[in-house]
Amino acid sequence: MSLFITNGHVIDVEIGNTYLATIEIEGHKIKRIIQGNESLPHGAETMDAKGQYIIPGLIDMHCHIHERYAHHFTASGVTTIRNTAGNVLLLDKLIESPDDAPTPRIYAADRMIDGSPGLWGDTSYGNFVTDDPQEARAEVQRQAKAGAKFIKLYGWIHQEVMDAAIDEAKKLNLETAIDLINSKNLTVVDAINSGVNWIEHASGAAQELYKGWNPLVDQEPWQHIDWKTHDQDQVNDICRLMLEKNVKLCPTMVLFDQAINFPDIWSPQNEVIESIETLESFMQQWSGNAEHITIIRERTAVVGHLTKIIAKTYYDMGGTVVAGTDTPALLYTYPGMALHRELEIFTEIGFTELEALQAATFHAARSIGMEHIGSIREGNMADLVILKGNPLENIQATRDIQVIIKGGKVYSQKELIASAPGEREVNANLQAFVEKWGESGC
Ligand SMILES: [Zn+2]
Repeated sequence: MSLFITNGHVIDVEIGNTYLATIEIEGHKIKRIIQGNESLPHGAETMDAKGQYIIPGLIDMHCHIHERYAHHFTASGVTTIRNTAGNVLLLDKLIESPDDAPTPRIYAADRMIDGSPGLWGDTSYGNFVTDDPQEARAEVQRQAKAGAKFIKLYGWIHQEVMDAAIDEAKKLNLETAIDLINSKNLTVVDAINSGVNWIEHASGAAQELYKGWNPLVDQEPWQHIDWKTHDQDQVNDICRLMLEKNVKLCPTMVLFDQAINFPDIWSPQNEVIESIETLESFMQQWSGNAEHITIIRERTAVVGHLTKIIAKTYYDMGGTVVAGTDTPALLYTYPGMALHRELEIFTEIGFTELEALQAATFHAARSIGMEHIGSIREGNMADLVILKGNPLENIQATRDIQVIIKGGKVYSQKELIASAPGEREVNANLQAFVEKWGESGC
């Protein structure tokens, strides 16, 4: 039995075209896009989208999901996420959910691989710490078997361990991504030359431009750096190298912006954000981080301007730049909703509304080889978001959501939020997982 979404303005995110059509959904997929007058089968199930705008489900290309707030992504119109470190076994229920589940589809890395002593502590279910290239190779193999879709490396990794991990991943046909925000020795150029596929947060550029600087050193001797300006020639050099090696970039500008602007954070009043604000774990984490706002600003968020310049420069050169948030890191990176702010920032730094939208749909899907999502086409997955206004005129329209369709199933924001599991249940599941993980001795 088909569902017909009638009379909506369909947005073709590949070319920026908008046209009136009826979308026929059968099962999990878009069966047909019907333009012009055609009478629907008698008794057909229909949904009227007159005056509304239909975009593909959004993709958050850098975040860390958990069942506690998975529904909030979908309620925000984010129907797919790229999980940039965590644990694929902890997420197995979410990862294996059916196409029409109320939680996003997940393209996941496993635990990140870091160098000793490990910024996030010793080896655990979320973090693998080693200075031994052979151990790193074995871990990459283990992650591939466990179902990781790509390998996440972290900035304290040693050069030869990074080289080994990237080499091993290539043998297994897996991409590699690195976060160099807190890197002490490695810079973005080292990672690119080592063959990494993804530079998360556009990080490691500050370490390249200001040799010896990193967020963990005494900042006093570095007071002369003017973080609000930049040397465009140096930025061009980095971007040219990335382009040459076909590196992909996910700048997560909202991560830095929320910290720079605190306490004037981006926090529009809507049902999703209201619900997130009732989650104790988040509010505690974020308000705890807020106590260190000065340090976060001076050492981490300080690269926010440079991040924006790199994102725009690289895109203008023809590089792949996609939209992500790093939810729930640092401060008030609201699950799902933060992606809408990220798209706004894309337009603030000079992307058109279409280009911003593409960074969270068409270009995002292509960058991870998921051609069946990210655009509204016959045969594609029926992941759709129906909006009140036209995001090609104003990108803020993406957060004014009427209805979400995930794998052909229609959801309201209200019911998605209401179906999120309780904190107690989620905490019990997490504790059970951690205990089981500890016993397995991995
Ligand atoms: Zn992250």
